[in-house]
Amino acid sequence: MTEHVSALDLFTIGIGPSSSHTVGPMRAAAQFNDELRAKGITSDSIRVTLYGSLGATGIGHGTKNAILAGLQGQQPETCDPEYVRSLTENPNVEFVFEPRTRLPKHSNGMKFEAGGFDKTYYSVGGGFVETDEPKPAVKQDLPYPYQTADELLEICERENLTIAQVGMANERAQRPDRDVDAELRRIWQAMKSCIEAGLQTEGVLPGFLKVDRRAAGIHRQLETREGDQSMESLQAYAIAVNEENAAGNRVVTAPTNGAAGIIPAVAYYALKHRNISDETLAIEYLITAATIGGLYKRNASISGAEAGCQGEVGSACSMAAGALAQILGGTPRQVENAAEIAMEHNLGLTCDPVGGFVQLPCIERNAIAAGTAVAAVRLALNGTGVHKISLDTVIETMRQTGADMSTKYKETSMGGLAVNVVEC
Ligand code: SF4
Repeated sequence: MTEHVSALDLFTIGIGPSSSHTVGPMRAAAQFNDELRAKGITSDSIRVTLYGSLGATGIGHGTKNAILAGLQGQQPETCDPEYVRSLTENPNVEFVFEPRTRLPKHSNGMKFEAGGFDKTYYSVGGGFVETDEPKPAVKQDLPYPYQTADELLEICERENLTIAQVGMANERAQRPDRDVDAELRRIWQAMKSCIEAGLQTEGVLPGFLKVDRRAAGIHRQLETREGDQSMESLQAYAIAVNEENAAGNRVVTAPTNGAAGIIPAVAYYALKHRNISDETLAIEYLITAATIGGLYKRNASISGAEAGCQGEVGSACSMAAGALAQILGGTPRQVENAAEIAMEHNLGLTCDPVGGFVQLPCIERNAIAAGTAVAAVRLALNGTGVHKISLDTVIETMRQTGADMSTKYKETSMGGLAVNVVEC
């Protein structure tokens, strides 16, 4: 059965700095809190064991604060980021870090124990949480079911629909009880607010790396320059989001927090420099990005702990490229081509955040990937859509490369830049 990955699950409003290490753990802790209450268990102490990648980089990614907030019943969508940041310790909650133990199901495992009851959760990327229990089979009556990009293209050609139209028809069929358009507008508004906040805020990011915020300064400089500054502005937009994310502020998973700058930056570039309307960006752009993101989530991974940074930044770059090609009038085959080009040149990208913070190389990496997405669209729109390497092939290649990649390069900060940059 084809599993539909909803745009409203891929793009969720939460807090930084990490969807897998902050948003997912907060949701898991809130779920555990609900389970304790449902079972009538009261306990003075809770023990939380963080395994694998969560154990390795949980501190720098704000996992402890997120779990402490979740255990109070807070949710990423509604919590106050400043309050979450203030939660550093709770004498009743004991944290155990097991970075070298990878649970069989996923490298982002966490076990909660209280009052003789325990439960293990997995933060599988993008803020999604799973347990050891099989996922309940949800009957999805989709008007256009497909598993692969090739099948999606066949539907577009058979029905004479765009990729956005197919994605929206499936989305509306799956969520008849929700006003999908209104929620997408709300998500786009949150993305814009995040960029605009980042473009206004100066200072130093949290953590011992003492990384300076740059987006506001770059943006100010660009406003004084003559000529086309659209590419430089695009970079500033992406940096703005990722600085907000690194600061633990309000941000939209797109499809993760570490890669949250690319899709909003490319959209804001289209708004400010290509005369694309807010409505087109909220609906057509976001639904196309989500339709492509669903292919990655279903057939490979969007988790840095599972696939390295190609799964996060690579997927986001591909989603943004496909979505921009769509709103600039690309055919379904050109949209697929743009998405394919964007991922092809992110294959093999490792995850090695310095000090375990989602800052170096993550912030700049989003700026570069936003540029790659726009470059991929230019190439694709100058072609006919006919090309040798399909999107399905790069998605499968990304999956295989992620599976072969050493654990050192999968959100553990045990290799690459994370061990070669001298901390000062
Ligand atoms: S290097 Fe990439 S995957 Fe790793 S934390 Fe940074 S953005 Fe996420």
